[in-house]
Amino acid sequence: MEPSKTTDKKVLVALLDAMTSLDHDAIVVGAGPAGLLAAATIAGNGHDVIVLEEHRSIGEPDHCAGLLSLSGLRSLGLKPPQDVILNTVRGARVYSPSGNSLLIERGRREAVVVDRHRFDMWLADRAQDSGAVVITGAQVRSLNMQNGKITGVSVQHGGATEHYRAAIVINAEGAVCRLSKSVGLPIVPRTNKYPAYQYEMRGAEVDDNVAEMYYGRQVAPGFFAWNIPLGDGRARVGLAAFSAAKTRLNAVIEHHPIMSERFSRASIDRTFGGTVLVGMPIRKTYASGILVAGDAAGMVKATTGGGVIIGGMAGTIAGKVASLAISEKDCSERFLERYQMAWRSLFMSNLRAMFLAQRALVSLSDQGMDVLVRGTSELGLLQKIEREGDMDMQWGIIRSLLTDPRAIRLGLRVIRQLSPISKNSFMWHTRG
Ligand SMILES: Cc1cc2nc3c(=O)[nH]c(=O)nc-3n(C[C@H](O)[C@H](O)[C@H](O)COP(=O)(O)OP(=O)(O)OC[C@H]3O[C@@H](n4cnc5c(N)ncnc54)[C@H](O)[C@@H]3O)c2cc1C
Repeated sequence: MEPSKTTDKKVLVALLDAMTSLDHDAIVVGAGPAGLLAAATIAGNGHDVIVLEEHRSIGEPDHCAGLLSLSGLRSLGLKPPQDVILNTVRGARVYSPSGNSLLIERGRREAVVVDRHRFDMWLADRAQDSGAVVITGAQVRSLNMQNGKITGVSVQHGGATEHYRAAIVINAEGAVCRLSKSVGLPIVPRTNKYPAYQYEMRGAEVDDNVAEMYYGRQVAPGFFAWNIPLGDGRARVGLAAFSAAKTRLNAVIEHHPIMSERFSRASIDRTFGGTVLVGMPIRKTYASGILVAGDAAGMVKATTGGGVIIGGMAGTIAGKVASLAISEKDCSERFLERYQMAWRSLFMSNLRAMFLAQRALVSLSDQGMDVLVRGTSELGLLQKIEREGDMDMQWGIIRSLLTDPRAIRLGLRVIRQLSPISKNSFMWHTRG
């Protein structure tokens, strides 16, 4: 395990116990936000839980832009310390393909940009403070099943294979989805996974307080490019699309009329790639002895690919249901169904609305996107979005817009610009 601030004698003793004892109340696979919040909840309820993380260091490799809403963090009861927070953002500017833009800001701090490595380390410290044991360099190779119930996991750890048993397993393995499939649970389909690429740059000409999203079929077909400011002219500049994320990102930095102004003279500190999820959650997230949470269950906001807050909520609910199941000595599929009912009632309508909104956006032609951005400010809809919008739970504002006569008028104008999705849209020539 990586040393951390709270790795004191007590934690080391617990770790040694956990590594020699192979029976636990709960096992969590994956030390990302979903897994660590699940583990903290289970340990906080007095149960014995271990978290198995395949990498040697928590939070690495980091592939995330790290933009988290303050309201979402509050709803998770999280107040990250200053050394985790790199910057604060008060709004977002959305660019249409022709360069029209909308600035959405409510005159208050809206979101923070975190260092994901430190954020995940901090979550691991919290979980350990509650009594969870985090074991790194431990790759779960398989979920073990007996009479139709998950009974534990087989782990590759320090050159040996170990078999751990538990009343319940929480699968929070992230977007890779290797494990759920082996026990017959649905997984996130490949078509819902878009390649992403990102640079951390310095010397950029950016507003340090405003995040930016750039839409357009030439820019990022199927998704968008972003600029997340880190302060002092530094920024995370990234892009996700149907394909060729790195090539497209290089192209927009060099040729996009606005992005090239911002970044073509900036230097690259760090590069990172990853997979952004864009679809709906998997149909079933529980079975006898197992719950699935976070990216492993496709729980993301399809409009942005953001999954830390939503995954954290699901992880917390999974932790509560697992605790109850352990106390009641009932980890049957029937008992665990309440997990799916709980997360669905908390945020499924939001995920569905965001999914439909994302589908609608990507099916627009560039002209349609221009009409949408121009019309939103011309018709006074921006104020409504600023008043009623929420970074994570977007169903409320989408529902409100659907019944607003101005939005309906705009929708009819935009619908005329629908065009079939093309995965082979034109790309600028690129150095990459
Ligand atoms: C380019 C990019 C930018 C993003 N930007 C944002 C953003 O700004 N805001 C936001 O909210 N979200 C963002 N996301 C999405 C966000 O990163 C994920 O939604 C979030 O990390 C999901 O958390 P999780 O705990 O479900 O999974 P992860 O954070 O992926 O954690 C899963 C963990 O499980 C471990 N693991 C996997 N398999 C095994 C195994 N077999 N055994 C043991 N351990 C295993 C992994 O090593 C990993 O540590 C972004 C994603 C990408 C790709």
